[in-house]
Amino acid sequence: MLVLKVKELEVQMASREKKYIKQPDGSYKCRKCSSTIQSISVAHPIWNGPFAMSGSGRVFNESKPYCPKCEEKPSDRGSPVAPKGSYHNP
Ligand SMILES: [Zn+2]
Repeated sequence: MLVLKVKELEVQMASREKKYIKQPDGSYKCRKCSSTIQSISVAHPIWNGPFAMSGSGRVFNESKPYCPKCEEKPSDRGSPVAPKGSYHNP
């Protein structure tokens, strides 16, 4: 299973600016088909424990945008995130 490092999640979030065009009202439009971008709340479990797949049970909620026309609706269960110093991100 893919475990994201905090940095990788930040890069993912930053790269959205290239796929979507920000509108003056703060919403986004798809660069390809001009649809208004929808967003879904995705929960990433935080694996910050010293063992594989261990964590405090905390969750990082991300508001994930997607184009309703040319992208599939993302799952509301996100990839686990491993902060620096944990088992998956030593
Ligand atoms: Zn689109």
